[in-house]
Amino acid sequence: MKECIFCKIIQREIPSTVVFENDSIVGFNDISPVAPHHVLFVPKNHIEKIDDLTPDDHSTIGELVFQAKEHAKKLNLVENGYRLVFNNGKDAGQAVFHIHLHLLGGRVMSWPPG
Ligand code: 5GP
Ligand code: ZN
Repeated sequence: MKECIFCKIIQREIPSTVVFENDSIVGFNDISPVAPHHVLFVPKNHIEKIDDLTPDDHSTIGELVFQAKEHAKKLNLVENGYRLVFNNGKDAGQAVFHIHLHLLGGRVMSWPPG
């Protein structure tokens, strides 16, 4: 997807701090972190939002969650906990329309979210 900022990050056309990569997904630090640890895990194929998922995408989405929890372990977040978030659509505040899983950790978070 030509004008997608996350596709450009995946293609290394714009810089980011990549912390994880395999055949299907990439993890990189959020440019504007809202917690001491804020990593985004994205599929390499361009999918705009959770609503667009098809049965073919199940393993990719599972991979996002699995690698996020593996990364949380590397960051020593297991004992205190962490949050995984998908924002979907306008009311949820989705700003970038390429599916991404937020891994947030390193501070106490409130519930319900804002
Ligand atoms: P959303 O609100 O769509 O769930 O979250 C989008 C996230 O992408 C935000 O946390 C924002 O800071 C992050 N972001 C937006 N543009 C860039 C960028 O160019 N590089 C990186 N690393 N993160 C970005
Ligand atoms: Zn994209």
